[in-house]
Amino acid sequence: MNNMIFDALFVIVPILVLGIFIFVIIMLISPKMRGKMMSRQIRATKYMMENAKDDLKEMGTMAGDIKVQTRKHILDQNEERLKDIEKRTANIEKEGIEVKVKAIRDGLSKNAIYCKYCGTLIDEDSKFCKKCGKEQ
Ligand SMILES: [Zn+2]
Repeated sequence: MNNMIFDALFVIVPILVLGIFIFVIIMLISPKMRGKMMSRQIRATKYMMENAKDDLKEMGTMAGDIKVQTRKHILDQNEERLKDIEKRTANIEKEGIEVKVKAIRDGLSKNAIYCKYCGTLIDEDSKFCKKCGKEQ
């Protein structure tokens, strides 16, 4: 009795291992086999998706609802702060535009830069501002 179990183990286990080994080798070498396996997996996925279509739709709708509600909640709770941020951003942009407009008006001289502190147009190589006197 024991001998039979041992025999079975010593025959079946090596056959299984060899089988797996051969399968892995075939999969590694043969792109055709890999393609076949992959298309089978894709078909299975398609089938699963087809079955779960309604659930997926429902999940999508739920996710969309949550997104809208969250956004609405954030806007409701922070309206004043958001307005403040927008105003401050607009002011920063305005300053940038003013600098650009000034540069255009001044003729965009290649050898001139603006003072970091007072914004006066000075020579590119000057060490100090001619108006405020600060080091560049
Ligand atoms: Zn200056």
